[in-house]
This record gives sequence, C-alpha cells and structure tokens, in this order.
Amino acid sequence: MTSHHHRPESDIALRVKAIESLLVEKGIVEPAALDTIIDTYEHKVGPHIGAQIVAKAWVDPGFKQRLLADSTSAISELGLTGFSSEHMVVVENTPDVHNLIVCTLCSCYPWAILGLPPTWYKSFAYRSRAVIEPRQVLQEFGLDIPEQVEVRVWDSNADLRYLVLPERPAGTEDLSEADLAALVTRNAMIGTAKVQPSIVSPSVVA
Ligand code: FE
Repeated sequence: MTSHHHRPESDIALRVKAIESLLVEKGIVEPAALDTIIDTYEHKVGPHIGAQIVAKAWVDPGFKQRLLADSTSAISELGLTGFSSEHMVVVENTPDVHNLIVCTLCSCYPWAILGLPPTWYKSFAYRSRAVIEPRQVLQEFGLDIPEQVEVRVWDSNADLRYLVLPERPAGTEDLSEADLAALVTRNAMIGTAKVQPSIVSPSVVA
C-alpha cells in the first residue's frame, strides 16, 4: 500500500507482512487465496448472517423448531455451510430464561455466523465473570434481568458453539423477515443485549 503518511507500522502488522511474504515466497500460500480469506471475514461473514437465522426462526415456526432441535443442520438448510465444522447449538430466550454465551477458556465463538468476536468477549474479565456473576455482567451491558428470570450461561469450546435466539420484540408483527433481521444485533445473539424494536420503521410508516 502506498501512502503519503509515514506512520510507522505496528509490530503486529510488520510481523504479519513478514510471515505473509515468507509463505508466498516458499509457495505455501497464494496471495489471491489470502485476499479471499481476508475479504470473507471483513465483508462477507458477520452478524448479519446470524441475524438472518434469527429472523427466519421468528417468522417460520417449522424452521425454529428444527433450529432448536438440531441447529447445525437447520442452519445448513440456509446454505450457510462450508466455513466451520463445529457443532452449533441455538439456545432460545423466553420470558422465563435469558441465555448468555462465553468461552471461559479462550475465545471460541460462532465465527462462521457472527464473524469476528468483539474484544470484550475475549477479555479475561468477561470470560471469568460471565460464569461467576452473570447478572452483574449483564447489568453492566445495560440489561437488568428480573430475579424470577433464570440466567443460563453457556461455555463454548472448540467443538460446540452457541448462538442465542433472542426474543422477538413486541410491536414487530408487521415487519418483513428482512426488516426483522435488521433489528438483530451481534450482542443480542451473544446474550448481552435484547433486540429493540426500531423507533421508526420504514415498513410501518405509510
Ligand atoms: Fe475458546
């Protein structure tokens, strides 16, 4: 990349460049293949994929049933395969149960459908506190979970990745599947947020 600015590159950027040149030079990787992978994680894989799954589950009871019974195969119905071999488990939020996802050991995350994990997800504070004091952690995310609601914490690992199916917000009965998907945030699918109905939706305003 050419630039008029001569800002020194970070240590990690320099190391990545050095490793990439070496791998290309040795014929181990094709630069085009690397570009494809980077483009995939920068532009193609992200929370919008998870949001499509959630919205479909909200509007299609049959799909929702299959999703909760065998998440991996229901997700593959949508053609979302090929990225990961881990088993997916979708856990449903209800008025009585709130689910929260963590990886206490490292940073296991349903990256095939949510993209790259947020920094806080990988932090030691989140990984350790989410299991010990989930209600406190949720409160810090701005979520007050009433005492009568059970909080379930799911610890991800290399083989099992969880996704929260959030509750569909009230007042969204008239929204299309695509409009619903647009409401679903990454944090709602990790369990650190609820899905909010949009304040003004183009589909509702005549
Ligand atoms: Fe992990």
